[in-house]
Amino acid sequence: MSTIEYVRVASSEHFIYSAETDRPWKPETILELLEQAYQEFEKRMGAGLDTVIEVEDRICESNNLGARAELNKQVHSAQEYTIAVKFICEFPQNYGHAVQERDLAYHFFVHELFHCWIGGRTSNDHEQIVEAITQYITDRTLVHLGWSTTDLLIRERVNWRRIANTTTAPHTTIAKYKLLFDQMHTDDPEKLLAFCRDLAICFRQQRSRKETDISFVLQRYLETGLEKEQKCQ
Ligand SMILES: [Zn+2]
Repeated sequence: MSTIEYVRVASSEHFIYSAETDRPWKPETILELLEQAYQEFEKRMGAGLDTVIEVEDRICESNNLGARAELNKQVHSAQEYTIAVKFICEFPQNYGHAVQERDLAYHFFVHELFHCWIGGRTSNDHEQIVEAITQYITDRTLVHLGWSTTDLLIRERVNWRRIANTTTAPHTTIAKYKLLFDQMHTDDPEKLLAFCRDLAICFRQQRSRKETDISFVLQRYLETGLEKEQKCQ
């Protein structure tokens, strides 16, 4: 395995950012984005992970872009553990000059950060719900903090509707949930936030496990939404 050489490295209070190539965004810009999102999530969701997060901005093949978070847990005792977190965000060479590309890149960085609050791996195949809420909150946060154009959510809603009606799972499922969360936000933004906070509590309490069981949170918040969706099918 060849080691990656990073040409840009910069750090801030909660993050170390390394980039494999020069990007249209500066390292300081990504650190600023991440710190702002971190503060916003702490304000709304409670304390974040007590660790410095490594963020790797890597080069990939042209159709392979994506992001993932590696959370490595070391359990020392029933109460004590440390957690090391690394985000790996991959973009093709010369990516990010177009506005939509830049929006997506910012989305990737902030998206992985939100997973640090609510986790990602769940029991009972609820991963798509966690993925949908992560995508939804990330877009909302980017717009709220002014990192994306305000029409991002408008553009996205059209997309979700199209996807919900035309393509196949898992994209259909994720799009349907995003529409549901959008409706929840319209009806009662506090309720959507309370849902996220309860997911975060589940993840924190069950950190010693690989997967988080979120069934009772889903029952509490989504029951009516889920029933409605089933009836529509
Ligand atoms: Zn995700």
